[in-house]
Amino acid sequence: MGSSSNGIQPAAISSGDGAAPAVDKDVDFANYFCTYAFLYHQKDMLTDRVRMDSYYNAVFQNKHHFAGKAVLDVGTGSGILAIWSAQAGARKVYAVEATKMADHARELVRANNLEGVVEVIEASIEDVNLPEKVDVIISEWMGYFLLRESMFDSVICARDRWLKPNGVMYPSHARMWVAPIRSGVGDQKKIDYDGAVDDWHHFVNDTKTHYGVDMSVLTKPYLEEQKKYYLQTSLWSNLHPNQVIGQPAIIKEIDCLTSTVNDIRNVRGSVSSLITAEIARLCGFGGWFDVHFKGRDDNPVKQEVELTTAPSEEFGTHWGQQVFLLHPPKRVAKGDDIRIKFDMIRSKQNHRLLEVEFDCEIRHSSGDPNPSFRKKFFIE
Ligand code: SAH
Repeated sequence: MGSSSNGIQPAAISSGDGAAPAVDKDVDFANYFCTYAFLYHQKDMLTDRVRMDSYYNAVFQNKHHFAGKAVLDVGTGSGILAIWSAQAGARKVYAVEATKMADHARELVRANNLEGVVEVIEASIEDVNLPEKVDVIISEWMGYFLLRESMFDSVICARDRWLKPNGVMYPSHARMWVAPIRSGVGDQKKIDYDGAVDDWHHFVNDTKTHYGVDMSVLTKPYLEEQKKYYLQTSLWSNLHPNQVIGQPAIIKEIDCLTSTVNDIRNVRGSVSSLITAEIARLCGFGGWFDVHFKGRDDNPVKQEVELTTAPSEEFGTHWGQQVFLLHPPKRVAKGDDIRIKFDMIRSKQNHRLLEVEFDCEIRHSSGDPNPSFRKKFFIE
């Protein structure tokens, strides 16, 4: 998955007691699920070769996990993973999908002569009742920078309710990465922001002159809004590998078999990255993820498969990378050490969106003073 066209509106209503916000299901459906009901969006995912090949190989190179087994596909969408599971020999596949896409999935299953094996159920996984526990849970739940959309919560819920004690998760592991990058986009964003500021001041003057109303009291909130939009919101990007100017660092590792919602609600950690480019401008950070299909220690895969969304010339994905830009960029050189304290939380207004803070120090290998900076970003 991975979708930018949803979730901008608040989807959660605060419980008001400082605890995790209670999710309003209708609002969540309107904002989040609606895009998945469109075939064009499912097609976006179905044409992502890196994504498709990884899941395809994971299933068909590890048929022993599927043959004769009960499988649960969490968020089946078009039904593709359920269909592959059945083709790999599953005895029964429960394919659960919250949106009307379930109708298309059912049709696809029938057209591929698998209706005896795959049962499509239109429901939220949280509400579903299955007649048995399953041997395998397969799901493609990853959003931008892994955790945007917070769908892994639903997979955890499914796992805790429906996976047999010796069951296997597909994928089994996930990791989040950050790396220092160079990019020209930050300069352009700053120019766009400055343009928006100028434009506002002209607007305030004109409105006073022509219409006799002083709008200047709105200057502060308007500029805050524009600043958030231009300078503090992370960007989708397909970075070229040579834009990565330092060693990528892992900021989170998730074992899909054991992780809890509490483990992923707040992602924080300290990492360090050595600059590898000769002389560069540190323009910001790139963030991406990978997932692995390893099975479990006592029931491993025969063939391990990796799905990575790292910067790549040839193998881009629809997830791309999230880019967090600094204004202005910082001067760095080979051997400098970037110390990063990373803190990511869910947005209070919408539990499917994220807020990230980078608290950094540049340790110059030259012995120059070590500048530090802190910046907050919104992943929307
Ligand atoms: N498995 C498909 C679709 C992945 S997109 C594929 O790999 O191509 C994720 C899908 O999960 C979407 O169709 C979305 O509507 C569905 N989904 C997300 N949360 C869900 C939940 N809690 N219950 C049921 N379906 C869910």
